[in-house]
Amino acid sequence: MKRSIKQTMEKTKLAILLSKVKHVKSEKLACVLAIQTEALAALHDFMHRRRFTQLMPVVVAPMTDPLCHGVHDIEIDCDSQKLKLTKSMILHKFMALMSDHLSHVYIMSPCVRLEPKACKDSGRHLLEFTQLDMETKDLQKEGFMSLIEELVGYVVARVKKKCDCALRLLERELIVPKRPFKVFKSADLKARYGKDYEKIMSEKLKEPFWITGFKREFYDREDADYDLVWPEGFGEAMSGGQRHYKYGDLVRIMRDRGYDEKQFGAYLELARRGLLKPTCGGGIGIERMVRFLTGLPHIRDVGPFTKVPGEDIVL
Ligand code: ASP
Ligand code: MG
Repeated sequence: MKRSIKQTMEKTKLAILLSKVKHVKSEKLACVLAIQTEALAALHDFMHRRRFTQLMPVVVAPMTDPLCHGVHDIEIDCDSQKLKLTKSMILHKFMALMSDHLSHVYIMSPCVRLEPKACKDSGRHLLEFTQLDMETKDLQKEGFMSLIEELVGYVVARVKKKCDCALRLLERELIVPKRPFKVFKSADLKARYGKDYEKIMSEKLKEPFWITGFKREFYDREDADYDLVWPEGFGEAMSGGQRHYKYGDLVRIMRDRGYDEKQFGAYLELARRGLLKPTCGGGIGIERMVRFLTGLPHIRDVGPFTKVPGEDIVL
C-alpha cells in the first residue's frame, strides 16, 4: 500500500530548499569549491612561508570589532555573562601580539555580520563569512601592502595553474596581476566620481588596486590605512592599516566619536598599561576572493550554505 509523505514545509520555503539542493548538487559548485580549496592551501602556504603564526578563531567574547557601519547586533546570555559573536578578530589579534614571542599572526576567522537587507543585491555581502585576518609587528603600511600584492599574485598564479579544468568549466580567465598595484586616494576619487567611486573604479579597472585615506574605526590610523579592491566590478577585497595602540589616542578617538568606552574596558586597560604594541595588518574576505577567482556574479553562489542579507535562510 502506498503511504503519502506529509509535506513538512510551507510552499515558498520548500521552493527555496529545492533550488538550494540543485545548487549543492551542481558541477558548477564543485568547480567553485575546488578553486576555493586550492586558494586556501595557497594562502596557508604563503603565510607559513612568511613565518606567520596561526591562531585559532575566537567566536564568542565580551567584545568584538565595533565596525564603522551598522549591522544587527547579537548578544548571548551565558550564565550571567554577556558575550558577543565575532564580527572580526581585530582586537584579539592585537592582544595576541602583546607577546614578545610573537611577531606576526594570522587566523582563518569566521565573522558574523548581520548586514541589513539593503545589501541584498550588492553581490558581495553575506551574513557570515571567513576572513584571512593578519597582523604583524614587523611591517608598516608600504611593507604590508607589498606583502598583500605578493600574496594575491601567488594565489592567482597557483589557481590558474592548478585549477585549469574548473576555470574552463566556469568560463573564467584569470590574469596574474602586475605589481606594484595602483594606489588612489579616496578623497580624489570621491571628488571625481561621487560617493560610488569604489564601485565605479572597480568596474573600470582590470587589475586589483588600492584606495587609501578612509575614515575608519578607532583602532586605525587614518594617515596609514588601505583597502584592496578587486577589479572587474568585484569590489572591496580587504581593509586594514597601521593601528593606534596608545591609550591617549584610543580614548580621544572614542570620545570624539561617542563610543561606549565601557564596552572596551579590558582592551583600554591593556592600552593604559602600555601592553599593546604598534602593529599593522588587514583582513581579506575569503568568499569575496573566491567570487573574484571564479568570476561569479553573486557571492551567494560561492558556497553551499551562504546567507545573503534579506533572503530567506532555509539551511
Ligand atoms: N577589522 C578589519 C575588518 O574586518 C580588518 C582589519 O583591519 O584588519 O574589516
Ligand atoms: Mg572594509
